[in-house]
Parts: sequence; C-alpha cells; structure tokens
Amino acid sequence: MFESWDYDPDAVPVRSGHFIGGSIVDDRPAIEVRRPSDGVVYAAIPEAGEESVDRAVASARKAFHDSDWACIEPRRRARILRRWADLLERHADELAVLESLGSTRPVADARAWDVPFAAESLRFFAEYADKLGGDVAATRGDHLGFVASEPYGVVAAIAPWNLPLVMAAWKCGPALAAGNAVVLKPSELTPFSSLRFAELAIEAGMPPGILNVVNGSGARTGDSLVRHADIGKITFTGSTRSGAAVMTAAAATGLKPVTLELGGKCPQIVFADAPSIERAAAIVSRAILLNAGQVCVAGSRLLVQESIRDELVARIIAHCRMPVPGATWEKRAILPPIVSQRQAIRIDGIVNTSLAEGAEALLGGDWESAASHYRPTVLGGVTNATTAVREEIFGPVLTVQSFNDEEEAWALAAHGTYGLAAGIHTGDVSRALRAVRKLEAGTVWVNRYGRSEDFVIPTGGFKSSGIGKDLGRQAVEANLRHKSVLIDFS
Ligand code: NAD
Repeated sequence: MFESWDYDPDAVPVRSGHFIGGSIVDDRPAIEVRRPSDGVVYAAIPEAGEESVDRAVASARKAFHDSDWACIEPRRRARILRRWADLLERHADELAVLESLGSTRPVADARAWDVPFAAESLRFFAEYADKLGGDVAATRGDHLGFVASEPYGVVAAIAPWNLPLVMAAWKCGPALAAGNAVVLKPSELTPFSSLRFAELAIEAGMPPGILNVVNGSGARTGDSLVRHADIGKITFTGSTRSGAAVMTAAAATGLKPVTLELGGKCPQIVFADAPSIERAAAIVSRAILLNAGQVCVAGSRLLVQESIRDELVARIIAHCRMPVPGATWEKRAILPPIVSQRQAIRIDGIVNTSLAEGAEALLGGDWESAASHYRPTVLGGVTNATTAVREEIFGPVLTVQSFNDEEEAWALAAHGTYGLAAGIHTGDVSRALRAVRKLEAGTVWVNRYGRSEDFVIPTGGFKSSGIGKDLGRQAVEANLRHKSVLIDFS
C-alpha cells in the first residue's frame, strides 16, 4: 500500500471517543478537530470532564489491583510490550495514515520514522521490566535490609501534539514497563492515533484497564486527570507554561511526583574548526526544519564563529530554500504545515516584533496570512534581547548570532529560561569537552544534532525546560517508588 500513497484525506475513517477498560467508549462530541494541512474540520472528540476522567482512573486502578500486570513475572510483561511493538509495525501503514491525517507529520515520515521509532522505544522500555527491582542494603549481620522498587499505581500521562505517537510511547512505555497502569491524555489537536495505539495494546495481551485514553482539552480533561486523588504520578510533555500549571495542581492535590518535559530554545554552535562547513550547514538546517521547527529540541539559535559566518549562513539558506511545502497526505511533502492558524499567527507575530526590534530577514519573514505553511525564516541582526532569540517559537525560524572566541560563544549560548539541548560543531575534542562542561543543557550533541535509536541516552531539560527524563533507564526509574525494608532475624 505504502508505495501507492498519496492518499485521499476525506476517505480515511476516524474512530473517536475515549478508551476505557479495554475498548473505545463513545461520548458526546465537543471539540472540533482540524487538519493542519488545509484547516478542514475532519472529526470531533468528546471532552472528558471529572466524571469520565474518574471512570478512566477507576478502570486503571481496578486493573492495577485485580489484574496481574504489576506482579507477573516481569519478563512476561516485557513480552506483551514487545508484542505491542510488533503490532504497531504490522499496522504501520494504517497508523502512518492516521498519524499524518490530523498532525503535522508527513505520511512518508510517519511511516518511515514515527511508527517504527515508537515501536522500537517500546521494545527498549520492555528491556527494563526485570532490571530495576531494587537493592540489598549493607546492614548488621542479623538484619536484612533491602530497597524494593515498586510501581506507583496509576500514572497520568499527558502528551503534546507535535509527535503524537512517539510521545505516547515515550510517556506510556516506561510507566507500563515499571508495572503501572496508565491514563493517557493526548493533545486535543492530535487525538486519534492514541486510540488505535491503545487498541493494539489489548491485542498484544495487555489486561484491559491497564492503558486508558481520555480525550479533551488541557484546561478541563488534563486538569481533572492531574488533580484526581488516585493518580500516583504524573508524566507530562508540553509547554513550560502548562507544565507549571500541572506542577501547581499536583502540589495542591497530594504532592504528586512529576516528570516534566517542556520547552526549549536550543543553540547550535559552529566553530571555524568544524570538520566540514557543508555538513554543519546541513545539520543546522535540518535541526530547524524538522517538523517545520515544531520540535522541543529545534535548534533555533545559530551561533557561528565570525570568520565563517557568511559562508555558513549562505549554505544554510540554500538548504532552507529546498523543502517543498505540502499536505501531510502527499508523499512528496517535505516542509510540513504549522499545526494551527493560531500557532502560525503567533510565529509571525514573533518574527514581526523581532524585525521591529532591529532584526534583519536574511530569508523569509513574509508569511501570507491564512497559509498553512510558514516559509523557513533566517533572522540576522539579533541580540540575546531580541524576542525571536528569547522566546520558544515552535516554527521554522532560525536566528543568527556570531562570536569570536569560546567565552563569547558560551555566554551567547546561555539562555535565561531554557536548558533543553545544545549542539556544537568543532574538530577539537578538548573544545567539545569544554562545551559539555559549560553548556547548561540536558543534552549536548557534538558534530550532530538530534537523536537516533539511542534510547539509552535519556532526554530532558534543565531549568524551565523540565524536571526528570524521558527515555533511558532514568525514565523507567522515575515510574518506580522505593520501599525500604529492614528485617531483624536475630
Ligand atoms: P501544551 O502545553 O499546550 O499541551 C501539552 C499537553 O498538555 C496537551 O495534551 C494539553 O491538552 C495538555 N495541557 C495543557 N494545559 C494543561 C493543564 N493545565 N493541565 C493538564 N494538561 C494540560 O503544549 P503543546 O502545544 O501541545 O506542545 C508544544 C510544547 O511542548 C512546546 O513547548 C514543546 O517544546 C513542548 N515539548 C517538549 C518536549 C520535551 O521532550 N521537552 C517534547 C515535545 C514537546
């Protein structure tokens, strides 16, 4: 089938509702859902209020206590997670259509990358199911002390719209591998692939109720979920502002532990001794064009050594001219649409404010209002005070600043708010290691940018970019609590 795509977006059936107790349950449609590519309303979702959220949490709680999910041999749990991953791949064509239809992900990317990546990350988490049981403590000879790692119970997982399936896998995978039950709330902008994701979990043998999905807005459904008394832990990915609201609600309703993966404003630093200027240009461009800049780790701030500035910027501009805007159901699409008109207007507002502040458009900056795509934009003449340098834009907008030496580079790279990721291009290993020490970022990439299947390396931010990690052993550990036991057998 895949070879024959493009597909007709009006011919794709979409199933709506919540997923509670092992099946999709209907509810009154309340929120219209639009296709980013053409703005057409193609479906609607219900909005779970306190009552529906309570049903989902009760279903998760019951399954956690009554099914054997938390206490079966961990390797059996791992087998179910691996079977689930296999099923995602077996249904990759169908999932790629569902994912691309209503999100910013071009169908070819969703098929080649998102679905296999989501599946492989579930396999990665499965590998930890029997590896994090706890520790035996050193105690006096007639005592036995141990620390038992146990699941929290019901984990609330809240995901953003920018990579819906991958984010769902990164939120649910570690919580489930650790033996928890989960209630997932996908973004109201991209709700549908998560329902199919959950159905396939049941087909893989996961007990009904262990994974539930509630649909609705953040303000109503997300907030009710976070505040629910039976939630043991919250794992959230989204904007820093919403993350702060989640943390406040979690603190007010029982001090629930939170993992927060939030916004970023990531620098890409290119020194004159980079192994290849052309390779650096390709990497820098890709890091801002991927998903049209709608990625938390978008490399949105180029810092370049003055002596190579003009050459590097010219090469980056050439790369930025290449992507062809297209609808996500066109196989040829390279530059994806912006998720919503509201977001495109926001991007344009930041660009225009920055131009008024003295920035110069080296490319783009001339959005035609109502267009669903935002042309890649490169802004020179900026400082750390320019709005486009300070604010997370979540669009294909790259700012350019130059420096003369390392100290200046580190000073420009430091951001007052965010510390998610950073890239550095240099042929000098000592300089790269100095960068690792200096840069306040949860991830530092050297002579590359972005991740591949290196799931063992966690992802997560410093400062207002978040608390805790997705991926890595750390993500599974964050879904376990530790019980200390001391036995006197004298
Ligand atoms: P968002 O904060 O608007 O929404 C994210 C999710 O949170 C959605 O499901 C939303 O409905 C829900 N939500 C919103 N307010 C809530 C509240 N008060 N209580 C509970 N839930 C609430 O973010 P978005 O626009 O969907 O995604 C883009 C943002 O996500 C960007 O800032 C991006 O940097 C960030 N992000 C971060 C990472 C990371 O790993 N650090 C990854 C992807 C996206």
